Amino acid sequence: MSNQTRPPIVVVTGHIDHGKSTLLDYIRKTNVVAGETGGITQAISAYQTEKITFLDTPGHEAFTGMRERGVNIADLAILVVSAEEGVKTQTLEALDDILAAKLPFIVAINKIDRPNANPELIKQQLAEKNVLLEGYGGTIPVVELSAKTGANVPELLELLSLLAEIQDLSANPAAPANGFVLEANLDQRVGVSATLVIKDGTLNTGDFLVIAGIVSKVKRLNNFAGITVKTLPPSAPAQVVSLTELPPVGATFQTFSDKKAAEQFATGELANPKKMGSDIPKPTGIMAENATEISLILKADVAGSLEALEKEVNKLGNEQTRIKIVNTGVGKIGDNDIKLAGATGNAIILGFKTSLEKSATDLVEKLKVEVVTFDIIYKLSEWLEEKIKSRRPKREEITVIGRAKLLKVFGNDKDRQVVGGVVTS
Ligand code: GDP
Repeated sequence: MSNQTRPPIVVVTGHIDHGKSTLLDYIRKTNVVAGETGGITQAISAYQTEKITFLDTPGHEAFTGMRERGVNIADLAILVVSAEEGVKTQTLEALDDILAAKLPFIVAINKIDRPNANPELIKQQLAEKNVLLEGYGGTIPVVELSAKTGANVPELLELLSLLAEIQDLSANPAAPANGFVLEANLDQRVGVSATLVIKDGTLNTGDFLVIAGIVSKVKRLNNFAGITVKTLPPSAPAQVVSLTELPPVGATFQTFSDKKAAEQFATGELANPKKMGSDIPKPTGIMAENATEISLILKADVAGSLEALEKEVNKLGNEQTRIKIVNTGVGKIGDNDIKLAGATGNAIILGFKTSLEKSATDLVEKLKVEVVTFDIIYKLSEWLEEKIKSRRPKREEITVIGRAKLLKVFGNDKDRQVVGGVVTS
């Protein structure tokens, strides 16, 4: 079979509260055919309309991870800017990501139903940042819309289709699937699952999946609505259940129908980790005996702070305590960070000049994840140094203060035991 046109994969991004989720919700409600999805309960953070695959704003991690690899998970982007609030820090961050990834994009000026909406001001602000919109001296398409009322959302969708046509996106459905890891989860019940986005080829149940040098068999494949299917075509989001290990978000995946071929490919990836671009650093150096390890997830407000944070944190490791950076990202600390920390066992989330999303506080409680944030780097270092000290293996010392002969044990609770005996000394 030769190449065929595939739907565009679209990422929606922008500053918090500017209406990304509302826009995605509106499109999902109005454009996903209920029959196809079994009642539209979106199980993963991606969905498909008839002609377009939408990705919920991926963590900035995924974005930067992909960028570092010089490949794109998405084909097109929508930059959402509130017509009331205008261009904000995360708008510029998102813009940087889009430009660095060379993604064609549309600016969606949202909330035009609001009385204080001022789309012209937004266009001006963007022009100041060298983003020249159509009708404003440039060629970047812009739609003024309301994600709440749905005004001009159809126009946005049409524009997306048009841009996709220009890009001439194609894939070979007969080829083995490849693409990206969008999110990864560990669930006590079902084990490790991952959301993948297929960029090319067809993904089948029973395929051997290689991510970051790890081979897993696709035992169960779900579509975005959580319905188990046998195969998924190019551009589809896919949920794969029962992976061998938690894969790094943003990594590429490749499938094989043959196990041997998968293993060979995996070995090659491990030998050349740059290519697979795993975000999870491999252990460096040999650990001293009795050494402990602190796993960290680092978040910062902007890429520059993140770099500073990483440098600082890496200085603090020593022979006794190895610092393992599980993941890094820019932006607020959200559900995905908490889930990753939970899945990694005892990873601490360390935020620098950022904060915890309000909506994520419940999850922090539930998964008992330690989240700490600082605005001053040396305070953060001090805290981490203390933490390292407290984690350092302690030498156990036993001082005998008396002896007794045990006669009977009453009850055997986990934390409490009642025993009877006679004191001998
Ligand atoms: P996100 O953080 O970018 O995903 O933003 P949300 O989609 O959560 O939206 C933030 C707030 O703005 C919510 O209270 C939405 O109801 C509201 N909102 C989003 N889009 C619109 C819009 O077009 N018009 C109005 N009036 N409110 C909107």
